[in-house]
Amino acid sequence: MMGSSASKDTATTQQKFLIGSLTRKSDLDQKFFKLSYHCLTQSPTSLTENRDIDLHEKNEKCFTENQHIQHEIMDLGNNDAVESIGCRAVRGDNKRSSKILNHNYDNECMVSVPDLFLPILGSKKLVCAQTYVAWRSIMDLEKLKSLLVKRRLIYLVQVDDFPDFLNNFRVPFHSEEITIFDLAEKFLGVFFTGMTVKWIQSLSIAERKWDITSRHHKKTGKFQYLVTDFFPLLANICPKDGYCIMGLIWSDLYPKEELNFVLGEAHNSFKSGIVSFGRFEPKTYIEGIHQDIISVTTEVVWKLLKCLSHELCHLFGMAHCDFFGCTMNGSGSVKDAMDQPLFLCPVCVRKLQHICKFDILERYENMEKFLVEMNKQFPSERWNRSMVWIQNCLKYLKTTATYL
Ligand SMILES: [Zn+2]
Ligand SMILES: [Zn+2]
Repeated sequence: MMGSSASKDTATTQQKFLIGSLTRKSDLDQKFFKLSYHCLTQSPTSLTENRDIDLHEKNEKCFTENQHIQHEIMDLGNNDAVESIGCRAVRGDNKRSSKILNHNYDNECMVSVPDLFLPILGSKKLVCAQTYVAWRSIMDLEKLKSLLVKRRLIYLVQVDDFPDFLNNFRVPFHSEEITIFDLAEKFLGVFFTGMTVKWIQSLSIAERKWDITSRHHKKTGKFQYLVTDFFPLLANICPKDGYCIMGLIWSDLYPKEELNFVLGEAHNSFKSGIVSFGRFEPKTYIEGIHQDIISVTTEVVWKLLKCLSHELCHLFGMAHCDFFGCTMNGSGSVKDAMDQPLFLCPVCVRKLQHICKFDILERYENMEKFLVEMNKQFPSERWNRSMVWIQNCLKYLKTTATYL
């Protein structure tokens, strides 16, 4: 066993590796970010027991792999399992992730601080996961290449038509009647506090004469666009002051010929991505069971906001999160993706804050306001759990209790 002074030194090194130096950070920031280390070490299965940590073995290949396009590739149902492929970056970790999240959600009164962020017990070496330090090394290079960091707008664009039930949907929200598109803009405005989120004029693939590869899926017959063809085209229409652009399309998408579909995908180099409603149906494709979306339900809104925020985070250079149950976890099925939390873990918040420059308390207070309203308009277990979580997190941030 290590002595107490040795433990302290190790903790400092690991903290720095995970979340970087906090010397210029406010007390509240320090309290929040160090929660990551606290939650990893205080959980019943701690970081030091479950991770093979060798800080000197810097594996460049792992970092490079994390930079690849992140796929959320989903299966089409049990009868099509042979074709289904989980997200490459986290393959194998998803079952553990779901189990931990279920445990999290079973506990309605989540007041135990270590439970705010539940570790994923991956077997991946810590040097292969995208720590804040690893992320910074990539982003600092990117900053040299462009002045992106000075651009404070996230643009959203509707690609082609949407059905009338979606266009005509209105929901009362803080004394106004808004569309599902407005709702997405409001949520992302809070999630990416510090940036401005804006829809631009919707576009038509035909009018733009965009040449996008498409197919009819050989089993379902569903029309699909090849997602990767959108990245350079969307990047080209991103206004000059835009940090990035995210498309939203009704049609189904697929990432490559041999794969079934993808909920959305983003490419950090192009600073563009696209999310589809194509797999938001209540029951995914199994003959005789499949149901199309015919109305805006709480589940549809949940899926939309989760997918958009996750894909946008990829455009901030963030790889899939291997540390905690986090909105940036990879996923191997629609269910996996939707069961993940709505929130980022402290390691991922640290990355996002570096670019967005938000105040953590302000961001969470805005999120709480948003979630209180969501619970009024879309009462459901998912939104309620998210609200309870954020209230517990705020409770921790506002108390004098600390784990520095
Ligand atoms: Zn992803
Ligand atoms: Zn995370």
